[in-house]
Amino acid sequence: MKKPLQIGLTGAIGSGKTTVAKLFETLGIPVYYSDDRSKNILQNNTLVKNKIVQQWGNSMLDAQGNIDRKALASLVFAQAADLQKLNAILHPLVADDYQLWLHQQKGVPYIVKEAAILVESGSHVHCDKIIVVEAPERDRLTRVMARDDVNEKKVQQRNAQQMPQSEKIKFADYIIHNTDQKLLLPQVMEIHRKLIQEHGNCNSATK
Ligand code: ATP
Repeated sequence: MKKPLQIGLTGAIGSGKTTVAKLFETLGIPVYYSDDRSKNILQNNTLVKNKIVQQWGNSMLDAQGNIDRKALASLVFAQAADLQKLNAILHPLVADDYQLWLHQQKGVPYIVKEAAILVESGSHVHCDKIIVVEAPERDRLTRVMARDDVNEKKVQQRNAQQMPQSEKIKFADYIIHNTDQKLLLPQVMEIHRKLIQEHGNCNSATK
């Protein structure tokens, strides 16, 4: 049986990655949500917790002794160097977790790996194709402010930590336009059709 193609799904903050990923799921495609999985590892992995305390001290723990995600987020989104350090702690574990997950996905033409920092982390090189979701900056900011109940400054701060949308698009095999003028589902279905075809054309049984 042919292995599924690995499709990276990325985009700037608030572009609609998760919304698009859910549409792929409705088509029966398994989705690996990198950000959710990494939050889970952050909360539950003792090794990670110890490394974070070693790096930034006990102020990163809440009253129950768990990682205080709010405190950690305030720290790393304000300082690029701290974000890099956190990523260096988390990424190897997320990469292992993804490989385990990937090996469980069988009998599907492709899987989707949703990740905000797919390109920044370098993991795009392992993807067979890359989808970038793009949306106007004003829409992205407004949507995230509403979704997370945060002010524009906070969203801008997070936005500034990631590669600009215009750069991300350069890595795209497929672009999904998430604007008020374009429906998402037809765009997702068109890519789905192409990827099934691509998988069918793929001769290697081991890819
Ligand atoms: P993040 O970068 O924060 O992970 P994301 O790229 O995954 O965000 P989503 O969470 O999918 O983006 O979308 C951001 C918010 O905008 C969500 O509340 C979502 O419901 C909303 N949204 C997404 N697309 C649209 C759209 N076309 N019209 C209106 N709201 C939308």
